Amino acid sequence: MEQFEVHDPAIMANARAILDAAGGPEGMAREVVSAVERNEEWRGKSCLNLLAPEAPTSPMVRRMLSAEIGTRAAEGHIGHVNRWFAGTQFIDEVESLCVELLKKAFRCNYADHRLMGSMIGNMAFYHALSQPGDRVMTAAQPFGGHSSNRYEGPAGTRGVEIFDIPFDPETLDVDLDKFEEEAQRFRPKLVVMGMSMTLFPLPVREMVNVIEPWGGKFIYDGAHQAGLIAGGQFQDPLVEGAALLTGSAGKTFSGPQSGMIMWNDAELTEPLTDAIFPVLAATHQVNRVAALAVAAAEMLEFGNVYMAQIVKNSQALGKALEDRGIPMLAAEHGYSQSHQVIAKVGEFGGGLDVAHKLAEANLITNKNLIPGDKPEDWDRPSGLRIGTIEVTRLGLMEDDMADIAEFMARVLVKGEATVSVLEDVLAYRRPLQTFYYNFDNGWPKGVGSGR
Ligand SMILES: *Cc1c(COP(=O)(O)O)cnc(C)c1O
Repeated sequence: MEQFEVHDPAIMANARAILDAAGGPEGMAREVVSAVERNEEWRGKSCLNLLAPEAPTSPMVRRMLSAEIGTRAAEGHIGHVNRWFAGTQFIDEVESLCVELLKKAFRCNYADHRLMGSMIGNMAFYHALSQPGDRVMTAAQPFGGHSSNRYEGPAGTRGVEIFDIPFDPETLDVDLDKFEEEAQRFRPKLVVMGMSMTLFPLPVREMVNVIEPWGGKFIYDGAHQAGLIAGGQFQDPLVEGAALLTGSAGKTFSGPQSGMIMWNDAELTEPLTDAIFPVLAATHQVNRVAALAVAAAEMLEFGNVYMAQIVKNSQALGKALEDRGIPMLAAEHGYSQSHQVIAKVGEFGGGLDVAHKLAEANLITNKNLIPGDKPEDWDRPSGLRIGTIEVTRLGLMEDDMADIAEFMARVLVKGEATVSVLEDVLAYRRPLQTFYYNFDNGWPKGVGSGR
């Protein structure tokens, strides 16, 4: 049979050539290390990383990620009777600290720390709370929805029937009248709001009121917004009536890439935790759990101011881009109340080409579907998503966003050669090498307790 490869065949062929030329397994290992080091030199030290789903972790979080505890086996629930393995007393301590810190960070009754990604958190609640054939309503991708709540993701594997949550294409807000009409027709068991393109808080309370009469549950997939929620700078879905909240630990929450799940209702505890163990997680990377616990503590100390600055920066960046001739979504609504802004880049060649052109100047963003695009345009959509997490953690403030907008406008609007913009981006980035809002490096100058 002919070989089938989903990955880029040229890149895979290059990998085989590298291994062939490496002179043996040790050389092969060194090639891996060298690629990691090149990435750190480029993305870690020389780029303005503006990807919305990405956050730099603190030195303390990184120390935990490489700690000895990550070599230890621990399955099951916390406590020596619950575990298969002996010798877990300090692991129990780390894991219980993590759970309690997550509960504090999200002001909730229950949290689970064993999810390898927010995808797994979503799989957990679909497994726990739905049956094949159940009806659910979720957001489609052109309005910011995510594959995890669609047929191609965890929702699809559960065999549920999926209906679209209606949106207003101008404001990117839920069309509540239409939602009420359609929800009453479909009577969905679950309504899941998971927005990867997220600018403003969602009408959680209003939607909960619609589905409550038949016992429908509202689920807030806060993969992107988790840090903003913990930092008190967005909405608080659990207070507004959501049955549970899932989140990515490595997006705004600025911890190790993985997932979290939070809820208040005791009745959900057994079905959810049964779905996590033994269905979706066995060993669950205790080093990552330790790193997550530290990230939650950082959120308690720094989250409020850090997240507020992220939002101020995205608003300032939206305005600075619009001022320079790059049309922005929601310009007439203040651009954003989150960590992202969305540019409409159809006139500059579309999201794919624009993102690659900007990357030539070390400005890292991503293409994005926006209203008006079709789901099948996913590979060549007309939007560009720009996030402010990392530039904020590097200590930049609202006024600095004009510098970033100017770099982008030089490439897109003025048509300047990317090599000359690159030179200036490199010079700009060189002195910015410290991540703030953590216990290692404290606050940036003029902020928080350093004010
Ligand atoms: C990123 C994202 C996910 C997946 O999160 P991972 O932590 O990468 O597994 C799920 N839902 C939404 C809405 C997302 O944006």
